[in-house]
Amino acid sequence: MAYHALIPAAGNGFRFGAPMPKQYLMLNGKPVMQHALDRLQAYFTLQRTYVVLAPDDHWFEETMPASHGVTVLRCGGATRSQSVKNALEQLQHIEADDWVVVHDAVRPCLDRDESLRLQQQLVDDDVGGFLAVPVSDTLKRLDDDARVVRTESREALWRAQTPQMFRYGVLRRAFALAGLDARTDEAHAVEALGLTPRGIAGSACNLKITYPEDMTLAAAILSAASRSAT
Ligand code: C5P
Repeated sequence: MAYHALIPAAGNGFRFGAPMPKQYLMLNGKPVMQHALDRLQAYFTLQRTYVVLAPDDHWFEETMPASHGVTVLRCGGATRSQSVKNALEQLQHIEADDWVVVHDAVRPCLDRDESLRLQQQLVDDDVGGFLAVPVSDTLKRLDDDARVVRTESREALWRAQTPQMFRYGVLRRAFALAGLDARTDEAHAVEALGLTPRGIAGSACNLKITYPEDMTLAAAILSAASRSAT
């Protein structure tokens, strides 16, 4: 079974507030998305890597001209799930049983051990799954005035990350179902088929760049990783 990578990178990053989409911001010498790409290509044996861009994206050629082995799909949609759905529809040459590894362009700190664990634990799995970390903070439900309604149990609650790894046929069927925008990730779409994706223990270091302070954290994580590699 072959592995294919799919990198949704069609977000505009409004929440972040930078002058360019956050996947193109420079982080320890290269764009955030280049880190995500390099790590994915180093830790998975990929037949092909597909990057999903917004149709009017001009940043990719400007900031990442030397991206090797990457096929650009300019079919990004209004939401992440729409971007993934549009890309899956363009990839019909992929075999139904092949694995599709979906990884956010804005997760630059993926590490080797968790990538290997994901592959090893899912290789014979009928459904597929995703990296996740247990919720560690206490969870409060707040009302409109930021007053506590109640404290929620965090027992058995996990935060889903990427990579998420599913077979192409399953993913395509999942994203063809109605109600797409309510589905925030691939696992959610697959759940709607009545299947049960598996969460594989990852690391909080595999953070998603969402707010400016995440860049500081990611820079520190990447520096520490390169120090321990030398
Ligand atoms: O917005 P968020 O940080 O959750 O985005 C996660 C990933 O999904 C990013 O890599 C982003 O570029 C991508 N995305 C997309 N199409 C959208 C919105 C987000 O490909 N419409």
